[in-house]
Amino acid sequence: MSSAKYIFVTGGVTSSLGKGIIAASLGKLLQARGFSVTIQKFDPYLNIDPGTLNPYEHGECYVTDDGAETDLDLGHYERFLNIHTSQANNVTTGRIYNNVITKERQGEYLGRTVQVIPHITDEIKRNIYLLGETGNFDFVITEIGGCVGDIESLPFIEAVRQVKWELGPNNFLVIHLTLIPFLKSAGELKTKPTQHSVKQLLEAGIQPDILVCRSEHHLPTELRKKLALFCNVNMNSVIEALDAETIYDVPLLMRKEKLDERVLTKLKMAHKNEPDIEQWKEFLGKLKNPTNDVRIALVGKYVELPDAYKSIVESFIHGGTYNECKVHLKWISSEEISAENVDFHLKDMDGVLVAPGFGERGLAGKIEAVRFAREKRVPFFGICLGMQCAVIEFARNVLGLTDASSTEMSMKTKNPVIDLMEDQKDVTIKGGTMRLGAYQCELKKGSKAFSIYGKSKISERHRHRYEFNNKYLERFESNGMIASGMNPHTNLVEVVEIESHPWFIGTQYHPELKSSVLNPHPLFVKFVKAALDHKKEKEQVHQKQF
Ligand code: GLN
Repeated sequence: MSSAKYIFVTGGVTSSLGKGIIAASLGKLLQARGFSVTIQKFDPYLNIDPGTLNPYEHGECYVTDDGAETDLDLGHYERFLNIHTSQANNVTTGRIYNNVITKERQGEYLGRTVQVIPHITDEIKRNIYLLGETGNFDFVITEIGGCVGDIESLPFIEAVRQVKWELGPNNFLVIHLTLIPFLKSAGELKTKPTQHSVKQLLEAGIQPDILVCRSEHHLPTELRKKLALFCNVNMNSVIEALDAETIYDVPLLMRKEKLDERVLTKLKMAHKNEPDIEQWKEFLGKLKNPTNDVRIALVGKYVELPDAYKSIVESFIHGGTYNECKVHLKWISSEEISAENVDFHLKDMDGVLVAPGFGERGLAGKIEAVRFAREKRVPFFGICLGMQCAVIEFARNVLGLTDASSTEMSMKTKNPVIDLMEDQKDVTIKGGTMRLGAYQCELKKGSKAFSIYGKSKISERHRHRYEFNNKYLERFESNGMIASGMNPHTNLVEVVEIESHPWFIGTQYHPELKSSVLNPHPLFVKFVKAALDHKKEKEQVHQKQF
């Protein structure tokens, strides 16, 4: 068994308290002290992975290098810790049951009755320990999705209780995240919901070691004392987590509350160095003091729920901050854009991004947005479906193939400029069967993409079934849209760009999945820069006119 210390993060009172951010912030602080840390998440739903979930239900599906479709919290882990996660970092109840049932069919439990306890809990524990064995980690932080008391999370809580016994006291710790609501009418912060949720954990055999309390107001000493007394924790293990201006403040807020010190003391670990968070602070300083701003349209289908494009939004924060520039995203539902009103929607924009997506709905509006950006020479960035829309638009309006489309939207088109990948043609099962994960791409020397990355060999992550149809490549290239990035093994077009346009790039891959605070993605950095240049140019023209 690995020698890592295991830290579990549970949640109580309500969902959406930000367990993922607290886990990532603690991970960041421990990592900044020189420890090696990884984080995993257990999700209580029955889908094998979130790949088959509607983004409206669950937010974005985050894809790892090894092609796992995972919870968006893994994006936070990667962005905060600058590490790469994998399938082992995200396990759902569906996957646990699927593994157990598969083993049962294979005869692994012959003669025995297969039950939640011990078989499901054993499988959960196997997965908890498995991650620790994939590397030489000092800490494995495990976030348990859902709320304590939910029927769905009971087997996970029971597994955590058993892990506690197996690992012993100095190797195991539970942080319980709760809410301290402020009752306006009473003018008071209330501890009762936290007491109840701790009681529920106690009933399941788990005494939390540290309470992290989300609150809109500072926790007075008296209240901390009360919480400590009724929840059996030390007073300095009551940690306040105030609402923050940005999620990137949270590691510093947790540092101020000494969460990392409490964890190390409780686990009897040497405190090593003070956390080196200078670069993080520098990032925050720039984030909060921009010297410029730009407006970028985010054209997509799922704009009502910002979590559906979580990684894109965060990548703009990283790329904008690098340029000391505040990026104002204007969310525009592609279904609302038409040839008649596109000007109204986009005329004040300094850049246009067409988002990834699936299906017919909203396609026409996305194509109009591309046309606007191409013709008006506004910086354009298309990701996955966004890139495919750029290709369709170019085929229709520049190559004159008026019925050009993707076979995803129109099976019968005579000009399938985007077509189903060959190896997808016999795929009928939906879950986990797209082209997923990291693939290599070779960038053409002299192209804009090459100059942005500063190298020719790159690796990026994917999630799609359709691709650029290479039968049309020559026509595209001789008319000015080039394939500046290709997969060297399959010749699949990974990047397109318009040579004569100031900044027009489409990527079949998802660069947003690899941007982090300390490593902002070059495409986002340069797209924001292009938007800034475009804005300045517009201002100069305006000044000359008046
Ligand atoms: N629907 C497109 C495909 O499957 C694009 C997918 C995406 O944008 N992630 O190829």
